[in-house]
Amino acid sequence: MGPVFYLAAIAASFAVPKPPNIVMIFSDDHARQAISCYGSRLVSTPNIDQLAKEGARFDRHYTTNPLCAPSRATLLTGRSSHSNGIRDNASEFDGTQVTFPKLLQSAGYQTAVIGKWHLTSKPTGFDHWEVLPGQGSYYNPEFLTPRGSLVRHGYVTEVITQRALAWIANRGPQPFFLLVGHKAPHRNWVPGLNQLHLFADKTFPEPATLRTDYDGLVSEAKNVHMRLDRDIRSAEDLMVDTVPPRADKTQIQVWERIMQPQDEEYKKSLARSGDLLGTNYQRYVREYTRCVAGVDESVGEILRFLRKYRLLDNTVVVYSSDQGFFIGENGWYDKRWFYEPSAGTPLIVRPASGLGHSRSVKSLTSNLDFAPTFLDLAGIKPPDTMQGRSLVPLVKGVAPSVNRDVVYGHFYESNDPDHKVPRYVAVCTSRHKLIYYYDLQEWELFDLAQDAAETQNLWPDGVSRAVRVELLNRLTSQQRVLREDQALIRQVERAVQEAVKSS
Ligand code: CA
Repeated sequence: MGPVFYLAAIAASFAVPKPPNIVMIFSDDHARQAISCYGSRLVSTPNIDQLAKEGARFDRHYTTNPLCAPSRATLLTGRSSHSNGIRDNASEFDGTQVTFPKLLQSAGYQTAVIGKWHLTSKPTGFDHWEVLPGQGSYYNPEFLTPRGSLVRHGYVTEVITQRALAWIANRGPQPFFLLVGHKAPHRNWVPGLNQLHLFADKTFPEPATLRTDYDGLVSEAKNVHMRLDRDIRSAEDLMVDTVPPRADKTQIQVWERIMQPQDEEYKKSLARSGDLLGTNYQRYVREYTRCVAGVDESVGEILRFLRKYRLLDNTVVVYSSDQGFFIGENGWYDKRWFYEPSAGTPLIVRPASGLGHSRSVKSLTSNLDFAPTFLDLAGIKPPDTMQGRSLVPLVKGVAPSVNRDVVYGHFYESNDPDHKVPRYVAVCTSRHKLIYYYDLQEWELFDLAQDAAETQNLWPDGVSRAVRVELLNRLTSQQRVLREDQALIRQVERAVQEAVKSS
């Protein structure tokens, strides 16, 4: 080969851009209401905000089945629960399915998952994995690896971060995908020793619906087991007079020194005010936001590491959660409902080398879109079986302003003795939300432009017939497009026909 050809070959190799690395930081139960760039009144998250300053913040991102394991299965497969087989937390994930990490591997990526996994079966499609068994532990957590299990000393968020950075430092030369799965801020909310001093004197503002009477919502809303004045447990959930399970002697000493005065204050405050709801709310939000502060610190560490080793210019960083969470709205903790606090999910994407400015994306997006997005970034065409769409054009701001005009939701869990949230199917458009609780045969319809907190069910008379019929049609057409279970489609279509007839 002569020198000209040689130089031409070098030029060509530079002309082909290397596909970017992707780091996805995926926390558990982290609501938009607890992220300051989403306008949180509860906590400041400077590191997550930094991602949003240099990238796209998705304001209408939804989890199609707002529960832990189903959300994770949809992340991996780009398919709905009925299609990937994970309808609730009890099912076992079939790891032989097509997932985006497997497709990334076949395109030459190295892949790793570190931290929360929560899919019962062993990870597939990952060259490297070290995952928490089930929900995992906040202190001195056990990890499962291909070589067996081991215990790592420390606080889970910090341990996962250190393991993630160690993996990046020791990776090979190929582009990589890394899934950092945080356990925090999942129930029960146990902060790290480094966060116990935070917010000790802070009084958190109450959401407008904390003290709701549940009038205007579906009949079962008042009965579900997620109320701060009834169902939350003082020892197991709020950690009053309790030390973290698995903590060692030194950790317990630090914990007790800091927390015992706070426990006394909680009990005194309760005795003084007699306000169980308000007192539990304050204690709950304090522990939850402390867990969030730990996650935010992890995001900062990962960003600083990528910057220091000059990886940030070729690494896409994504922050999201498996779904949102109630932080006192409707007097609740937990998730499961299709209401905004739980089905609405944070999503921030910082493209490689950053956008240079912040962008807020108002289009509706779904967690079905993750897998096609990661494949798009790697230059791979998503298989037709995936049901989402790439978000890359929305990140760049080159897509039409509306990516989807509707998102679909389906909550299946009927075997959960702990929460008792009724099953439903739902659609959400840019303005309205329609929910059908098919076991109860009850409908809910909200106008999000007029009633962002979803306090007033407008079914059946609160909107025009045209709006109602339009939403009903959207619901059945989404079920057909997503190839929902036939029996359910027929059941919902019968209910829709009844509803249209009587409207
Ligand atoms: Ca979760």
